[in-house]
Order: sequence, then C-alpha cells, then structure tokens
Amino acid sequence: MITRFAPSTTGEAHPGTLLSALLVWLDARARGGRVGLRLEDLDTTRTKAQWAGQLQEACAWLGLDWDGVVVQSDRLAAHEAALDTLARQGRLYPCRCSRAERMRGRRAPDGGWAYDNLCRARQLPAGGWRDTPDAIRVRLPDDRIELVDDGGLELSQAPAREMGDPVVRRRDGVIAYQLAVVVDDADAQITDVIRGRDIAPSTATQILLQRLLGLATPRYRHHFLLLETHGGGKLAKLHASLPFSELRTRFDGPAFCGTLAHVAGLLERPVACTPRELLATFDWARVRTDDQVWLV
Ligand SMILES: [Zn+2]
Repeated sequence: MITRFAPSTTGEAHPGTLLSALLVWLDARARGGRVGLRLEDLDTTRTKAQWAGQLQEACAWLGLDWDGVVVQSDRLAAHEAALDTLARQGRLYPCRCSRAERMRGRRAPDGGWAYDNLCRARQLPAGGWRDTPDAIRVRLPDDRIELVDDGGLELSQAPAREMGDPVVRRRDGVIAYQLAVVVDDADAQITDVIRGRDIAPSTATQILLQRLLGLATPRYRHHFLLLETHGGGKLAKLHASLPFSELRTRFDGPAFCGTLAHVAGLLERPVACTPRELLATFDWARVRTDDQVWLV
C-alpha cells in the first residue's frame, strides 16, 4: 500500500490540512504501508515557498514523518509528456470561455459551474498545445464511471456531461490540478488515495484521464471536513481563520494531535498523544463521517 498527502501550498497550514495529513498517515502506517508528502505548488499565482516550508514544519510538529517528499513543480516534464500523449490522441482543444459565461449555465456536482464543452470543435494551432495562449481542455469520452469509494461514498458520474471537459492547462500556462494529480499519483505508484471530501466530485474525471493516459486507477477514500461558521451562520470549509502560526502559540504538537484525534472520533477526550500512539486502535469505522464544525 502506497499513499500520499498532497496539500496545495497556497496558504498557511490550518487544522483541516493537519487533520487530512494525520488521517492519511494513520491509514498508511496502520497497514504497514508507505506514505509520501507531495507539495502541490503549481499555482504560481498563489503559492509561496515559505508555505511549503511551513507545511513540512507543521507536519513534523504534529509528529508525522514521510517516506519521501515530491515537489510538484519539479515534475513539469512528466506533465508535459502527458499533454503530448493527449494531443496525439487528438483530445486537446483551446477554450476561451470565461467563468462569467459558465455562470449563466448549470451547476456541476462539485458546486462549481459545469462546462458545456462548447469549444470541442476548435483546433489547436499548427504548433500544438504549446502555441496557444488559451486554456486547454481535454475532450473526455462520454463514459459513465460507476464508483463507490472505500468509505461508502457514492461517486458515480458521467464527467463529460455533468462536469464538462476539464482544463488541463490554464490560460496562464499553469498545468491544471486534474492532470497533475493523475500523472503524479501514477508515477509515485500510489495504490490508495485518501483525501478530503471536497475533492470527491473530481474522482470520476480523474479516472477518465487515467484511462486516456493508460494509467492504473488507485483505490479512493474521502474523509470528513472541518468547517467554520461565517457571517449569517453559513458553514464553509475551514480555511485561514486558524493558521499554523497562531495554532502553534495555542497548542504543542501532542496536544493538537490529541485534539484532532478527538474531533475525528478516535479519542473520547482530547488528551495529548503522538500519531504513533493512535496506531494500535486506528480504524476507519471509528472515524466520523459527518463534517465537523471547528469549535476549539
Ligand atoms: Zn470554451
């Protein structure tokens, strides 16, 4: 069993980041598997080197170790090779549609706006995908993916219709998440992907990309999220409201590990502990399935 924790380094680590890191690590170590850290830093408009460094520091503070670290921006050659493969299959096309245009359309399963594959008939320039300033999408087959993940989450979907063809290279030149995640997981021989439920609606799209690229499909499991209350009582995924720089002034590593384990349902009370001490009793059947509002 080989898995990974793959956070984007577009901000400070926060309790939700560390919850995911802990669950991925526990699953791997409890099964005698391997677990790597992949720093997803492709979004050059939002990522900062200091946050990648802080993320590693935060994981070490919590008591997590990794069997290897991959920096996603080092993997450009592999990402470009995948784009070349899709181009040879005639599946890439340029798209200039704006988000504002999609917002007049229909909702996608991930809560965003679906893309109606309007530009499928457009051709790449003679010089290929490297020569267009537009975003590049991949024409997906119309297949429906039947999938229930390891946690029992129903993920069946016909991505080409429900989500629309995904962007694989953004207009600003950045390789898009859906392509990078598939290529990097395959190259790292990931057998099990464990990640937050917010990404679950992308799974079917990723499986179709794996098929187009001739890559194996790993097992999937999506865990609950930490939420926070916004104005008007609206709940949203916990984000920057409790950054690691503040978290570490309020907790030490073991105290926070115990707090996370308690929130996750793994400890009856939030007593200080190390991740290793949680291994003996770790079981997904004990991990909460409902999203939790962060109140600590
Ligand atoms: Zn378009």
